[in-house]
Amino acid sequence: ASTDDPSSTGHEQVVFCQDTQTGLRAIIGIYSTALGPALGGTRFYPYASEEAALADVLDLSRGMAYKNALAGLDLGGGKAVIWGDPAQLKGEALLRAYGRFVESLNGRYYTACDVGTYVADMDVIARETRYVTGRSVEHGGAGDSSVLTAWGVFQGMRAAAEHVWGTPTLNSRRVGVAGLGKVGKHLTRHLLDDHAEVVATDVDPRAREWVRANHPQVELVDDAAALVAADIDVYAPCALGGALDDETVPALRAKVVAGAANNQLAHPGVEKLLADRGILYAPDYVVNAGGVIQVADEIEGFNFERAKLRATKIYDTTRQILRLADEEGVPPAVAADRLAERRMAEVGRLRSIH
Ligand code: NAD
Repeated sequence: ASTDDPSSTGHEQVVFCQDTQTGLRAIIGIYSTALGPALGGTRFYPYASEEAALADVLDLSRGMAYKNALAGLDLGGGKAVIWGDPAQLKGEALLRAYGRFVESLNGRYYTACDVGTYVADMDVIARETRYVTGRSVEHGGAGDSSVLTAWGVFQGMRAAAEHVWGTPTLNSRRVGVAGLGKVGKHLTRHLLDDHAEVVATDVDPRAREWVRANHPQVELVDDAAALVAADIDVYAPCALGGALDDETVPALRAKVVAGAANNQLAHPGVEKLLADRGILYAPDYVVNAGGVIQVADEIEGFNFERAKLRATKIYDTTRQILRLADEEGVPPAVAADRLAERRMAEVGRLRSIH
């Protein structure tokens, strides 16, 4: 069944998919196609209930519309969830059944990887549909999206540094990187190239070992709490969501927060706590859009340099948002939402959609 549900959540379309033979239960959420086909990953997760799966897909698809709008992509916002345990359910038959549902939307929704789905899964889904990105390099895919995610975060951080200290560089600033995973490692390299001092932490001993072996000048601290309390200029959350909450914000010594992690604000209102403390927060979904820029480029036939140029523009977008926030007297997160809504409305009008 396919239901239009503009009344309560503002979504254009929510599609419930079921395939009894393979046990597939999926929900595809299309928040907006004002800018173009909706793009967003497929999350494969053992939700406690269908209600929980639906709430997640509605929330995530709306977030993608805003992220894609500010990334300057001609793509709308969508997301899908497959409800179940990937360890038990995932296999070629289920992924193919899912791919046929994506195909049935005739290009209104493009899928990609998210929590619980990987490049190899996208290659299987692609056997049933053209509307899939995040594929392997052998199949023309963009490869590891953390490369341009880190590049974009670095650009957003440069814009924030310019806003606070007057020059778009991290030269001589102390930057705290929490999480030395795929993104954190690339980001550390960009920061060192820019002559920043890097202080870092990771719970995984292998990541700590990587730093000691490759960048011995990086100072390691015990945990994220120690990093928050450290004498740093910039805090870059690059591990899990919820890094900024009622405890971390009052303890934070940095003047700027800019990092890759999704959903850094633990709850609504944290952006106000940050603003009240005079800490500049570069919104997560603006600065971490390099990954979606990288996979979106596949739709045209992947070209790394073109995608990198677009990710470099995260500098200009962050700058514009920080200025707008000052002008309108609102936190940057609110200014970012307004700018995204403006673009969706303007382009939507040009295309006579809304
Ligand atoms: P990753 O899993 O490769 O790295 C995360 C790292 O954080 C790991 O090394 C892990 O050990 C560490 N970590 C976990 N909990 C920690 C803690 N409490 N304290 C310190 N370190 C901790 O993931 P990634 O791809 O590098 O992504 C990092 C973040 O950026 C995630 O929130 C992800 O959703 C977000 N993001 C990633 C991309 C991308 O393209 N990879 C795009 C957009 C957003």
